[in-house]
Amino acid sequence: MADKLFWVVVEYEDDQVIEPSLELISELYRLLQKRRGKLVALALKNDQVAQTNKVLAEHGIEQVIYFSGDCGKSAYKIAANVADLSKREKPAAIFAAGTIWGHDLAALVAAKLRVPLFPNFVEIGFDEQNRLVVYRTILNNTIDAKIIAREKVLVATTQLEQFNIKKAKLPKVPNIVEITKDLSPLEEPTRIITKIKADPKTVDIVNADILIVGGGGMGSRDNFQLIHEVADLLGGSVAGTRVARDKGWITLDRQIGQTGKKVSPKLLISCGVSGAMQLTMGLKGTRNLIAINIDKNAPIFQLADLKIVGDAPTILTDFINKAKALAKNRKEIDKQPDQ
Ligand SMILES: Cc1cc2nc3c(=O)[nH]c(=O)nc-3n(C[C@H](O)[C@H](O)[C@H](O)COP(=O)(O)OP(=O)(O)OC[C@H]3O[C@@H](n4cnc5c(N)ncnc54)[C@H](O)[C@@H]3O)c2cc1C
Repeated sequence: MADKLFWVVVEYEDDQVIEPSLELISELYRLLQKRRGKLVALALKNDQVAQTNKVLAEHGIEQVIYFSGDCGKSAYKIAANVADLSKREKPAAIFAAGTIWGHDLAALVAAKLRVPLFPNFVEIGFDEQNRLVVYRTILNNTIDAKIIAREKVLVATTQLEQFNIKKAKLPKVPNIVEITKDLSPLEEPTRIITKIKADPKTVDIVNADILIVGGGGMGSRDNFQLIHEVADLLGGSVAGTRVARDKGWITLDRQIGQTGKKVSPKLLISCGVSGAMQLTMGLKGTRNLIAINIDKNAPIFQLADLKIVGDAPTILTDFINKAKALAKNRKEIDKQPDQ
């Protein structure tokens, strides 16, 4: 028997397993490779079972437990199922990706099992006593916490975009178990009426997809306004370094780094940011980094995917003017009657 039985509740979008679920599975597979562990996926049955099995197996899943019946995508109903089943099967841990749905589900599972939920872990491993350990930041990202699983089952979610998707070395054909349950009698306590896209101006920078980050090299409060203008044009959010915060250009909740927040945007544009270690430890989850700095030897360039050497206020002003001119041209083209 496997020493460690890990469950991953898989999430779909348009019947496809979403990337955050695969990030989580890849990381758990990496962790269990040197141990006697078993990675099991729990999923809703849909029309793409063959495709789902293939994708899950490719990333290290050994067994898939499918729920079928009237579940919809209801986190409430699935959580009830997962919690019930776990009382029988006794997994060491139950994981979900740190999406809104994943957090909902994991919180409900934890509540049903009367164990704590550890959301947004950024690292996972075993300590010298072979205990499962997860790491996450707490108190507004100011403290790195190490959490040792003492409960009968650990329930946790990942910090999004923290782990890489990797294929398993030796994918196996997963053993399929199907559980059919008609959960329709369960009354749904909540209902999603509509989804409203977060306003980039107010969204927590931890959840922002696009971040424009200003540092001391922006020179003045007036120049820092350019960061806001670029953010508006790109639908992004504003953040800054500690120097930017010390100068009062940003508030503490928009500071990235050791004493600020850890961010993981799809795109980050840093402007006049040196790239000190205390700052870069907060932006390691960034997918694409464009850095603008006047000094070609600035440390930030070591992390950058695109390096722009030059005066940040001038480059941002050029960008704003060109983007506005392009938008104006487009509006005029759109106004012209069809020939
Ligand atoms: C315990 C501790 C915790 C810390 N925590 C944090 C933290 O959470 N977050 C954080 O940010 N810092 C933190 N710091 C501070 C950190 O060490 C750096 O001092 C800080 O990140 C520097 O900010 P900066 O790059 O904006 O400014 P600067 O160090 O002033 O660098 C400005 C950069 O802009 C460039 N530049 C100058 N003029 C221009 C121009 N016209 N155009 C383009 N580029 C230009 C310069 O070449 C330089 O690289 C911490 C320090 C300590 C000791």
